[in-house]
Amino acid sequence: MGRYTGPVCRLCRRMGTKLFLKGERCFTPRCAVEKRRAPPGGQSREGSGRRRISEHGIQLREKQKGRFIYGLMEAQFRNDVEEATRLKGSTGQRLLELLERRLDNVVFRLGFADSRGQARQLVGHGHLLVNSRPVNIPSLTLKAGDIVSWTERSAKGAYYKTMLESLPKRPVPQWLELDKNNVTGKVVTVPTPSDIDTSIDTRPIVEYYSRR
Ligand code: SF4
Repeated sequence: MGRYTGPVCRLCRRMGTKLFLKGERCFTPRCAVEKRRAPPGGQSREGSGRRRISEHGIQLREKQKGRFIYGLMEAQFRNDVEEATRLKGSTGQRLLELLERRLDNVVFRLGFADSRGQARQLVGHGHLLVNSRPVNIPSLTLKAGDIVSWTERSAKGAYYKTMLESLPKRPVPQWLELDKNNVTGKVVTVPTPSDIDTSIDTRPIVEYYSRR
């Protein structure tokens, strides 16, 4: 199953919840899910025509939601679940940690990008460094102490200047530290569940893959 390349708002409508895939627009009333909640002059369509979903349907839906939020292909997501299963402790918790510690997610969480999709592009195009070394692998798992910074070339670009003006765009989670003066970000610690702001329920995801 490849990466979805169609209109991202459609994914939110399909999941019936906001997945925050489109950057700043997601935080405005122009968001397609917000409009659906409050159609002009009409009643909310939310909840109308809802069907009972089977246990398998819930598992499938939650798995898709996780994939869409982090922008992963099926095989990548499955690999993460398998790795989380091999780690000690709660598989669901380990899964969230792995997803959050991805380099593209960290770039997004630091506010260097408006969305994870944009963060993935920035990393893929070689704009960022990890511990002063060039890295172009969005899935790289960061560890405590790692520092993300910009390449000298990218720091001269127009995108960097615009990004800098609005930094920090969103609250930076406690497990990360943004150094606005040097425009770097540090992974302070591995995130705990309370540090992770996500609507994903990992239990059905783990159940979905445990049956395959
Ligand atoms: Fe989803 Fe963002 Fe589009 Fe709203 S604006 S529907 S949250 S992608």
